[in-house]
Amino acid sequence: MKHPTPAPADAADSQHDSRSWLHTGDAGLDGTLEALPHEVDPTSLRVRVLRDTCKRARLGGPLYLLLWLTICGLSGFLARQPVFVLANAALLAAVAVARMALFRRIDRLLPERHALANLLAIASTLTNALHWGVLTATAGIWPAMHVIEPYMVLAVVGLTMGGSMGLAIHPTIRVLFPVAIVSPLAVTLPFFFSPQRALVAALGVIFAIYVVMVSRMLLQDYWRLLTASALLKRRAHELGELSLTDSLTGLRNRLYFDRQYKTEWQRACRQGKPIALLMLDLDHFKALNDSHGHPFGDECLRAVAQLLALEIQRTGDVCARFGGEEFIVMLVDTDAEGAMAVAERLLDGLRGIDLRAGHQRVHLTASIGVASTWPLHPLHGQRLIQQADEALYRAKRAGRDRAVGLDTRTEAVPA
Ligand code: GH3
Ligand code: MG
Ligand code: MG
Repeated sequence: MKHPTPAPADAADSQHDSRSWLHTGDAGLDGTLEALPHEVDPTSLRVRVLRDTCKRARLGGPLYLLLWLTICGLSGFLARQPVFVLANAALLAAVAVARMALFRRIDRLLPERHALANLLAIASTLTNALHWGVLTATAGIWPAMHVIEPYMVLAVVGLTMGGSMGLAIHPTIRVLFPVAIVSPLAVTLPFFFSPQRALVAALGVIFAIYVVMVSRMLLQDYWRLLTASALLKRRAHELGELSLTDSLTGLRNRLYFDRQYKTEWQRACRQGKPIALLMLDLDHFKALNDSHGHPFGDECLRAVAQLLALEIQRTGDVCARFGGEEFIVMLVDTDAEGAMAVAERLLDGLRGIDLRAGHQRVHLTASIGVASTWPLHPLHGQRLIQQADEALYRAKRAGRDRAVGLDTRTEAVPA
């Protein structure tokens, strides 16, 4: 039996270190889950982060190509080294196209193969960055390229800033992206040292530190928002469930029944299928409460609900607490004969419930009003409820502990 769980303490405001939980693949997730509020599903968050990262990384491919053509074209380097420039442009274009295809594939890999998708996203982004870093380092090494070196360095600064901010939401890419783009320069600098290059390198280090710090803040803000929105969604779902559940028995409540009944009645109208209602009321329940106390009465109601939940499991069927000690069961695609059989089964089940008040065995019985019909008019559902109620009244009058069916062929009879 499902019982509504109390709302857990709000964890949305707590500070979470977002560095670790998304680390590449499943391996890095271990031991970091405590950073997540326990009600938030880490898989759905990881998938969301990766999808958002890919959306942002899409801009990268065409951007590198545009920068390369602009720098080489306007500096005159294209005219001097057309083969080198166009070969690199072709390479950058091919990588841009390949990345587009890869991002589509990553989308298809999610959510099942998250680890692989994550690896592909990281590898493709870093490959592009590394390629640009190598081109820039080559501009420092190869005298023919010196003419574009300052522009390439300027582009590195812009790409590092923009890329680190845009991709800050991914903990791994956030750190490795600036490393990939700058490392070829750092490695080659000592071999082609000049005071100007050293000054640029010093500025680069300051920028890098600044960029990493700011992107960390962005990552944390994004993380908090994502966690808060996931919690909010979950809370909304829980509240929705609570509003449709009876708190004493854990069964669905009348509001839920009303909604489902309306839907199923209309479906039965369209499909020309029968629908049946069982209105179940416990016998002499007031006396039971009076002799054994209200808490024991509550226990009985829970036991009845458990039986109903166990017996009524067909898809589309609903059992709900209708009122105090009254329950209602909707049976879809069920005629009078079938409904009567279910009612008898429920009565048998009730008689078999082993309830004890102290050492005394308490026998629980109920009366059931059964009504069924082939609905014709989408708005006439209330009639069947009234007929089930009328049948219940007759069952009580006839001596209780029984099911009484009403001839309810008022809507339509199949030919
Ligand atoms: P009958 O066989 O005619 O149905 O007799 P009855 O005593 O069951 O019917 P009546 O409507 O007179 O009394 C219903 C009783 O159900 C009244 C109330 O004490 C009890 N009841 C209703 N809701 C609850 C509940 O949530 N918990 C408990 N323990 N008792 C409830
Ligand atoms: Mg009653
Ligand atoms: Mg009763």
